[in-house]
Amino acid sequence: MGLRLYDTYTRSLREFEPLKPPEVGLYTCGPTVYDYAHIGNLRTYVFEDVLRRALVLNGYQVKHVMNITDVGHLLSDGDVGEDKMEVSARLKGKSAWELAQHYTDAFKTDLARLHIQEPTIWARATDHIQEQIDTVRCIEAKGFTYRTEDGIYFDTSKLDDYGHLARLDLEGLQAGARVRVGEKRNPTDFALWKFSAAGERRQMEWDSPWGVGFPGWHIECSAMSAKYLGSYFDIHCGGEDHINVHHSNEIAQTEACYGTRLANFWMHAYFLQVDTGRMGKSAGNFIRLQDVVERGYDPVAYRYFCLGAHYRSRLTFSWEALDGAVTALERLRETAYGWGAPGSVSEEWMDTFVAQVNEDLSMTRALAVAWDLTRSTLSDAEKKATLLRFDEVLGLGLGDWRPAGVPDAVAALARQRDAARAARQWAEADRLRDEIAAAGYEVRDTPEGAVVRKAT
Ligand code: AMP
Ligand code: ZN
Repeated sequence: MGLRLYDTYTRSLREFEPLKPPEVGLYTCGPTVYDYAHIGNLRTYVFEDVLRRALVLNGYQVKHVMNITDVGHLLSDGDVGEDKMEVSARLKGKSAWELAQHYTDAFKTDLARLHIQEPTIWARATDHIQEQIDTVRCIEAKGFTYRTEDGIYFDTSKLDDYGHLARLDLEGLQAGARVRVGEKRNPTDFALWKFSAAGERRQMEWDSPWGVGFPGWHIECSAMSAKYLGSYFDIHCGGEDHINVHHSNEIAQTEACYGTRLANFWMHAYFLQVDTGRMGKSAGNFIRLQDVVERGYDPVAYRYFCLGAHYRSRLTFSWEALDGAVTALERLRETAYGWGAPGSVSEEWMDTFVAQVNEDLSMTRALAVAWDLTRSTLSDAEKKATLLRFDEVLGLGLGDWRPAGVPDAVAALARQRDAARAARQWAEADRLRDEIAAAGYEVRDTPEGAVVRKAT
C-alpha cells in the first residue's frame, strides 16, 4: 500500500507520488531566531521529522531544506511594527547577529535532543539576500508590485486565486478591514521589501534596486525553496498558523514569478496548547525543552508524547500527560533492551506498522502496533529486530538505549535468567536472580519480559 498524505491545498487525502522519483523535495519553514523555540514549535518539527522518516521508509531519497529567519519578521503579520530581531537585540543588549547565532545554536540543540534529523540544507535568510532581491524583481517584472512610503508591496488583487490555500474570504476581509491598511491597496497585500526608516541605522540592512532596507518575511521561503528545490517541488510544511498568511503569501509570490503553486503537497501540524490556549512566543505560557530537561525529564519522552496524537489534531500539554509518556517510554526501552541481540525482521509485522504510518502518519496507531508486537508470539530476537525497524520512523533511539547504571555483566545475567525461565529451569533462574541481587540489582518480571533496576 502506498503513502497517503493530507494536502491542505486540496483539503483531501491524496496518494503521494514524487514529482521526480526517487527524490523527494521537502521544505519546512524554520524558526525565527529572535527567541528560543518553545515545545509547541517543536511539536511541528517532530511531525516534520516523522514525515521525512516515513518518506525514507517508503524508499524515497529526501532532500530537506529548512530556513532560518534571522531578519525581517515583523511584530505583526500585517507588516506594521518593528523587526522582531532588532527589538530583541535592543532589549538584550546584544547585536542582532549575535542573537541570531545564539538562538540558532539553541534550536539545533533542541532538535538533537528530540532525535530530529538535521535538514540536508540549512538556509539562512541573511545568506540569501541577493536571491530574495532577484525574486522580488521577477515579481515586479510580472506586474504584481507597487511602491509605498515604506516598501515594495505585493498586490494580492492581481492574482485570481490569492488565498486559495486558506480559503480566504477576500470580500469579507476587505469589508471588515478595521486595521490600519495604511498605503496598502488591499488588506491582504504584504511587503516584499521594506525600507529602512529615514534617519534610522539598522543593524541588518542591505542595498537594493528600490533603496536600502531588508526583505519582507515571506520572500525568503519562495526564493530559497526555488534555489534548492526548484519552483515546484513535492512537499511544503509548517504549523497551522502559517496557512492564512505566511504560506498564502509564499504561494502568491511563487505563482506570480513562476506560475506554479510552489509545492504539490501542503501539510500543516496543529497546535500544541496548554489549558490557557495555544502555546505562543508572546502568550506567556512558554515552555522550552530546556525547562523539560531541568525538571528531570528525558527530552525523548516529549517526542513520545507527540507521537501519542495525530498531527492534524490539537494536543494539550500537561506535566501529568508527560509523566504518562515517561512511563510508557521507559517500559518500551527496558523491554526492548531485555530482548538482547536482534534477529530477523518480521515482514508481516512490518506491513502492519507501515500500513498505519502510510495512512497519513497515524503514529498513535503505529505506536499501538509496537506495543502489540511486544506481546506477540515472535521470538525475542525477531521482536527486537522488528521494533528497531519501527524505530527508524518513531525515532525513540531504542537501539542505543542502556539502562542507567546497569553494568553489562548484570544485564547478561538477566538475559541468562530469561533463557532459564523460558526453558523452565526454575532453580537456575532463582540462582541467577540471587546473583543479580548480590550485585545490588533487582529483577522485575513484566508481561513484556524481565527488567533490571538498581535495588532500592
Ligand atoms: P516561528 O518560529 O514562530 O516561525 O514558528 C516555528 C514553527 O512552529 C512554525 O511552523 C509554526 O507554525 C509552528 N508553531 C508555532 N506555534 C505553535 C504551537 N503552539 N504548536 C505547534 N506549532 C507551532
Ligand atoms: Zn516559510
